[in-house]
Amino acid sequence: MPGGTNMAMATHDSGARWKTFLSEAKEQEITLLLSKQTASPVIEVSFHDLTGFDPEFAEDILSSPRLIISSGHKVLSEICRDRGVDLDAMIRLSDLPRDTMRPLRDIGSRDIDKLRSLDVIVTKMSQLKPRIHLAVFQCETCGNTQQVDQTNESELVEPIRCPPDTGCGASIRGTDSTRFNLVMNVSRMINNQWLEIQELPENVPSGAQPSRAQVLLEGDLVNKHLPGQRITANVIPVVRSEIKRNKKTPMFDIIYHMVSSTHESVPFTEIKISDEEREQIEGVAAMENLMQVMQNSIAPSIFANDKLKLIKRSLALQLFGGVRRKTSDDSYLRGDIHILLMGDPGVAKSQLLGYMSNISPRGKFASGGGTTGAGLTAAAIRDTFGDGRFALEAGVLPLSDRGLAAIDEFDKISNEDRSSMHPAMEQQRIFVAKGGITATLPARCAVLAAANPEGGRFSNRNERSSIMTSFKETGLPYPLASRFDLLWLIRDETEVTTDTKIARHILDIRTSSVSENRSQEIDYEPDQSDGDEIFSVGVDGKKHLTIEFLRKYVAFAKRNYFPTLNDKAKLAIEQYYVNIRNETSKQDRSAGNYESEGDKDRVIPITARAIEALIRLTEAHARMHLKEIADEDDAKVALAVYKHWREDSKIEDESELHSGVSASKRSANQTNQTIRKVIREICMERGGSAGIDQIYNRAIDLGITEPQVDEVISSMSISGEIFSPRGGTYSFVR
Ligand code: ADP
Ligand code: MG
Repeated sequence: MPGGTNMAMATHDSGARWKTFLSEAKEQEITLLLSKQTASPVIEVSFHDLTGFDPEFAEDILSSPRLIISSGHKVLSEICRDRGVDLDAMIRLSDLPRDTMRPLRDIGSRDIDKLRSLDVIVTKMSQLKPRIHLAVFQCETCGNTQQVDQTNESELVEPIRCPPDTGCGASIRGTDSTRFNLVMNVSRMINNQWLEIQELPENVPSGAQPSRAQVLLEGDLVNKHLPGQRITANVIPVVRSEIKRNKKTPMFDIIYHMVSSTHESVPFTEIKISDEEREQIEGVAAMENLMQVMQNSIAPSIFANDKLKLIKRSLALQLFGGVRRKTSDDSYLRGDIHILLMGDPGVAKSQLLGYMSNISPRGKFASGGGTTGAGLTAAAIRDTFGDGRFALEAGVLPLSDRGLAAIDEFDKISNEDRSSMHPAMEQQRIFVAKGGITATLPARCAVLAAANPEGGRFSNRNERSSIMTSFKETGLPYPLASRFDLLWLIRDETEVTTDTKIARHILDIRTSSVSENRSQEIDYEPDQSDGDEIFSVGVDGKKHLTIEFLRKYVAFAKRNYFPTLNDKAKLAIEQYYVNIRNETSKQDRSAGNYESEGDKDRVIPITARAIEALIRLTEAHARMHLKEIADEDDAKVALAVYKHWREDSKIEDESELHSGVSASKRSANQTNQTIRKVIREICMERGGSAGIDQIYNRAIDLGITEPQVDEVISSMSISGEIFSPRGGTYSFVR
């Protein structure tokens, strides 16, 4: 068996080959290692370089990677020791040849103990645990010590016999038997960690569950990955026999030992765009009526009345999103556009969300009520990997990093998610400190949420009631409303003409679509399978972009275009903002309000938040048109969408978005007035500021509870009437 001998030869002389390679090609790195200036005692060896240096040896590594890599660790550590530095140095083999790449679901018996690369997303990460990798045992009889390499993470390998040349030669069985004790303080430990990985959702055949696997990481690789990250993992699949009722079985589980890993460098690498497709995209981007085409392409099977058309436009803008920016103080400004769809049941909210998560690169659909495990943000769960330690699992938001998270039944999200959603949506990071794990997971995704009213249907609003009345009916906490750039309300209104059109539309779709059984492939969807078509025609006879093409378009635009606003665009937004603020203050004055105390019921018609939303919408429109500069045309469309939203929502006082209380309500509310008076009195008495306890005390005397005080104070702080000079004290502005 020549192959067998070769392999034995290869592993046999690997020590010498490593020594030659390391001392000739890696001298600099070794010097650096010895000076202990590197973060971890690791030398990266590019497989490509190794092939250039010693092609035969590189081939050997591919056929028996485990033995050769571990011999590399030993040789490197020896080199260090010879030069007087005691290190457990390691080799990280990177740049594996392309043909080691495999889909996770295809890994089987032929891949065992070979080098493989997997494109995956990390879903869970465990706590660290130290493991002995080099055990030192002492013989009870003669006191001689010996070292045993521990290559199997699931059992400790103990010596069978004390070596006769250095020790007494006694074995663990027989008449002169001895025992061996592990000497902890000289045994070598290494940190390890488990990851759970999952195939990239894009590579999963439709309808199938993504394959998952567990990866063991050691040394410098621990804490390098975060749940939600997409990585190329270079691994060696190894087998562990399954254990049932304390007995080994002939079945084997595959686990993966990580050799090295790379993070994706360009976003959306999973979406390949050919030169031809690039030209097609540029062609479509130049179309005169691009916005109209986009609108038609968002869920063509959903019939749109005027309002839904506008909603579809805003959803198209959301797909492209604004530009995330880093400020001078190292914080980030969100670029993604968050949209909330509130609506009566049966108005196609869920269907819209499904569509959007499908169109968007890295889109994910989840139901607020039905998310299991990590929920929307993240969760620390004990014993996921079967060894008692905590693991951090990524929820929907981190998993749709750089994409879109469509969250249906948003009103039914768990209490835990409710509190964590707020920072997650604004900072787009999820901070976790649970079960001994602290981590910050990136969640740079747009949120498209749908909410139903608690009472089944939204109550009929009168002319002047604002969208916050409806928001309240969803039972969601008020501050969450201010995290959304746009809030839409879709009513199930009876209107004969529209009703007829919807009925006709649905009938057309239901009767013209291909019957599933009749079509050749079971999961044939006309929109999805014709991969290279740009346009298709809906039942309404309108041309729209296919889902495949639109997804590529969005990925292309998000990857390559980061528009900035020019002066004219800025001016347009500024004017709108200033106008609205002026108009309201004029109205106030003409109503004779100027004599009233200015701080009492000052109307906040529009807040700075709106400007941010407008910038994002403007950038998104420019990006859709593949422009680097967002100009006044882009601002105009953004303003149109935004104005419609505001008019439709009847928001007269934007601070209502934060507090749920509008200015008119604020002034009508007797309690509010009383609390204001109390704070004012205390401020007068105490030289300008009022402590919260004093406010509580006085309020309680007047029959007002602490939560009531808190609510008013928070709305006054948000609207800028009062501020807090020190923790727990409040002063009036000016
Ligand atoms: P929701 O989530 O708002 O309760 P669904 O998305 O479940 O509503 O929609 C209910 C059904 O009504 C779906 O089959 C949907 O196709 C249909 N439907 C409702 N409105 C429309 C519309 N405007 N055009 C086409 N179909 C619609
Ligand atoms: Mg629904």
